[in-house]
Parts: sequence; C-alpha cells; structure tokens
Amino acid sequence: MIMDASRVNDGSRRVRPGLSFEFFPPRQPEGEKLFWNTLETLIPHHPDFVSITCGAGGSRQGGSGELVRQVHERTGLHTVAHLTCVGASRAELTEMLRFYQGCGIPSILALRGDPPRGEPEGAFERGAFRHAEPFVAFIREYFPEFRLGVAAYPEGHPETPDKARDELHFRRKVEAGADFAVTQFFFENEVYFRFVASCREKGVNVPIHPGIMPVTDYKQIKRLSELCGSTLPVWLTSRYEAIRDDPEAMLRTGVEIAVAQCRDLLLRGAPGLHFFTLNQSLAVPRILDALSEEFYAG
Ligand SMILES: Cc1cc2nc3c(=O)[nH]c(=O)nc-3n(C[C@H](O)[C@H](O)[C@H](O)COP(=O)(O)OP(=O)(O)OC[C@H]3O[C@@H](n4cnc5c(N)ncnc54)[C@H](O)[C@@H]3O)c2cc1C
Repeated sequence: MIMDASRVNDGSRRVRPGLSFEFFPPRQPEGEKLFWNTLETLIPHHPDFVSITCGAGGSRQGGSGELVRQVHERTGLHTVAHLTCVGASRAELTEMLRFYQGCGIPSILALRGDPPRGEPEGAFERGAFRHAEPFVAFIREYFPEFRLGVAAYPEGHPETPDKARDELHFRRKVEAGADFAVTQFFFENEVYFRFVASCREKGVNVPIHPGIMPVTDYKQIKRLSELCGSTLPVWLTSRYEAIRDDPEAMLRTGVEIAVAQCRDLLLRGAPGLHFFTLNQSLAVPRILDALSEEFYAG
C-alpha cells in the first residue's frame, strides 16, 4: 500500500514511516545495469513504492513507459509512473494512461514538466494542458482508479517568484484530485515544515512527502539546485568546497548530512522519506542503515 496521512508519526503512535525511491530511465546500456543493480540493492529496505521519472510529454515519454512496466512486472513493487503533460495532446496522454492501466500500474505522479528550451510557447500551445492542475482533473475524471501524486515546492517553483501564489497553485492541483504530494529537494527542514503548516492551515490534508537528495557529487548538485530552485545553504557549500575533489569524503559527508536531515524530519512528523536515488546505489542504503533501528525496524 502507498503511504497515507494516517502514518504521520506524531510521537503517540510509533508507526513505520513511509519510504520510496525515485529512479530515472537510463540512456546508455551501462546505465541500465546500474539501474537494476541499484533497484535490487534497495528492495530489501521494503519501499512503499518506487517511482520512475519521464521525459517531455507525449506518447514516448523518454522510454519510461516500458521501464515502468518492467519494474512493476519483475519486482512486484508498487510502481509510480511519472507523467508530464507539457506539449502533449489529450490523445497522447490518454494512450499513455491506457498503457499504464493495461499494465496494472496503480499510481501516477501527474506533472506539467518543462517545455524544451527555446520553445516554451510552442510547447504550451501544442499541449492540451498548461499546468498540472487541469491535467490532474483530467486523469481524475477519465481514469479514477489511479492514485494520483503531484509535485510540491517548499521553496517555491522557480517560475513563480511569488511563493504565496505558487502555494495557491499547489493547493488547487491537490483539490483537483491528488492523493499525495512529493516535494522538490531542500536542505533546511524549516522550509518544509513551514510549507506543510501553511498548506494544512488552508485545508490541504494529503501527505506531503519530503524529497531527499543525498549530496555525493557537489558539482552535480550545484547544477541541479540552480535548475530546481533548491537553495544550497552556506553551511553545506562550505563543507563541500573543502572536499570537492574527494569522492569518498563527499559520499561520507552526503550520508552524514542526509541522516541528520531525515532523523529530524521523521522525529518532527514527516510522513515518510522519498529518496532521489539518481540511480546510484552507494548513499541511500547507508543512510537507511543508519536510520533503520530507530525508524524502520520491524
Ligand atoms: C518530486 C518531483 C518529481 C518530478 N519528476 C519529473 C519527471 O519525471 N519529469 C519531468 O520532466 N519533470 C519532473 N519534475 C519537475 C517538474 O516537471 C517541473 O518542476 C515543472 O517545471 C513543473 O511541473 P509541475 O507539475 O509542478 O507544474 P505546475 O504545478 O503546473 O506548476 C508549474 C508552474 O506553473 C505555475 N502555475 C500552476 N498553475 C497555474 C495557473 N493556473 N496559473 C498560472 N501559473 C500556474 C506554478 O506556480 C509553477 O510555477 C519533478 C518535480 C518534482 C518535485
């Protein structure tokens, strides 16, 4: 079963927090081996679900459809298919949703996605939906059996500098029919808790799972942070500046920071942890080993 609000660890009932892993479809044959090895390494941690990202909208979805089917069939895990709508027609999205329906995929993470660089207007005009909200409503209406997730941005989405407006858009897409949300990665837990508290005050009750990004490659995270609008705090950058050419030290530091972040999140009531694995097998198992006795035993 996928995680739900009743799993919130409020201190009075010790329940196993949710756990999920996100992967992306590998582009090269070497990447495929790494993908399956990482998945196998993580299965013994009993995730509630694994999710597979997708490329730009449309029927191809960057090869993720076939991979989602294979993961679901081979592992029997609850598999969540990411699906973006930007640039895609209703017919293309319907085809993809029927495909997932036919494979028995239980959940969709419904996203707008990003238009290809250099032609945002063209992609928006071609596509049936400009934002995730009407896409969620569309899936809810025509494919009511799917559990639906949406993306959340505790620091605000980079396109909408007004955080209050962005939060309003988030609430609307949840109201359109989402069952759960997964956040963009962040490093200051206060940002997540403030966002969740503000959503709760305004009546959003679905679980909002914090997205965790272990930092094991400083250069890569700097690039990703800029792209995603996730702040790299000074305390973090100064630690990595000193070890940026030492992969082993970066792995150790990434694990240490993520363990501290995850402990704090879970102790303060986050419903679970969603790891952006980047298909890498080293950091996440170490983080979970450190957390297992306290949070994931039994
Ligand atoms: C957990 C997670 C997983 C992701 N997986 C993928 C993936 O697999 N593939 C991929 O390509 N991308 C993925 N993304 C990135 C995502 O596609 C981008 O961040 C994209 O820019 C926004 O998608 P969205 O679904 O959040 O869009 P939306 O919710 O539509 O929001 C996009 C922007 O539009 C604004 N907005 C929303 N509604 C309105 C409105 N009615 N009027 C005006 N403005 C509005 C919002 O404030 C925001 O700035 C993921 C992100 C997260 C957090």
